[in-house]
Amino acid sequence: MSEPLPLVFESPRRGQPPRHWADLTPTQRRELVEAAGHRAYRARQLSAHYFEGLRTDPGEWTDLPETVRASLAASFMPDLLREVRTQTADHGDTVKTLWRLYDNALVESVLMRYPDRVTMCVSSQAGCGMACPFCATGQGGLQRNLSTAEIVEQVVDGSRRLRHGDIDGHRVSNVVFMGMGEPMANYKAVIGAVRQLVTPTPDGLGMSARGITVSTVGLVPRMQQLATEGIPVTLALSLHAADDELRDELVPINTRWNVDEVVNAAWEYARQTKRRVSIEYALIRDVNDQAFRADLLAKVLKRRGNWGWVHVNLIPLNPTPGSRWTASRRRDEAEFVRRLRDKGVPVTVRDTRGREIDGACGQLAATDR
Ligand code: SAH
Repeated sequence: MSEPLPLVFESPRRGQPPRHWADLTPTQRRELVEAAGHRAYRARQLSAHYFEGLRTDPGEWTDLPETVRASLAASFMPDLLREVRTQTADHGDTVKTLWRLYDNALVESVLMRYPDRVTMCVSSQAGCGMACPFCATGQGGLQRNLSTAEIVEQVVDGSRRLRHGDIDGHRVSNVVFMGMGEPMANYKAVIGAVRQLVTPTPDGLGMSARGITVSTVGLVPRMQQLATEGIPVTLALSLHAADDELRDELVPINTRWNVDEVVNAAWEYARQTKRRVSIEYALIRDVNDQAFRADLLAKVLKRRGNWGWVHVNLIPLNPTPGSRWTASRRRDEAEFVRRLRDKGVPVTVRDTRGREIDGACGQLAATDR
């Protein structure tokens, strides 16, 4: 006989965030709702409130009897993210929020509104263990992995802000795992969150996988695994240098999986998923922005063929406190772009949204001050 299901969750479970509706599969939700003594269809009602209505306040679940509301909320909707501070920039189109988690760990998320889309940049870990020397998050080390629901809640909060804002009806269309943390080092929770995002409503947020980008330093086995999930998210590889000597310094995990191996894994991802991979390259003045490095980058990428498998995203370095590095000169940046274009490599330069509120790429450090 199988183990009976627990009637209530111990909340919080020791050493882990309390379990939340967004951690569960639709089947688990039904089973747990029934095991807690409710009718199975309550699960569907609760999902509709959470994923469609973005309503976590049981006072708003007016189609449920009050006693049922309280019990379901206590079991399944713990408060995972407590807002510490919100800052805005770009005339309100960029919104950065600092969150305190159940164990006082701090993370940030950034909501960016564009004319044609809304992008939510989420954190997958508190801190990061990858120690890239130019990235603010990398300087403090890893505190812990986030749970699936702690990631999903960042997106739900963004959607709720839009709904309550002036552009009613708009939803988050894009999610990028480019906040704090290395998503491929927290694979299980990240793929769990991706599933909650792409599952059609009311069981999930009903987003398109095409709108989701997972950015990685290049953990090759995880990149390979991601290609087998059947969810064609966009993969972004943080390359930053096309030779091992420099990349060993800029992205220390390169000593484990080198340029050749990570570019192969990216190419393989594109081949298997038919999704164009994005190569991230932060332009750092006089470090990795010389013309010969643009040529080398083009060579390394084109070696894998020229069938549109790749796109280069140049990020002007956002200077971080204490770093000796800064962004490239404009003419060096322009020359870098020109050399890639000349060789037929598609390239764009990333905008630096939220820079003045330390909300741009690589600036998230989540301090309470
Ligand atoms: N760990 C993941 C997600 C990190 S943030 C990764 O490394 O891909 C997303 C992107 O911002 C990465 O490409 C990262 O290298 C880049 N980045 C980090 N610090 C930066 C900085 N100071 N300026 C510009 N880009 C930066």
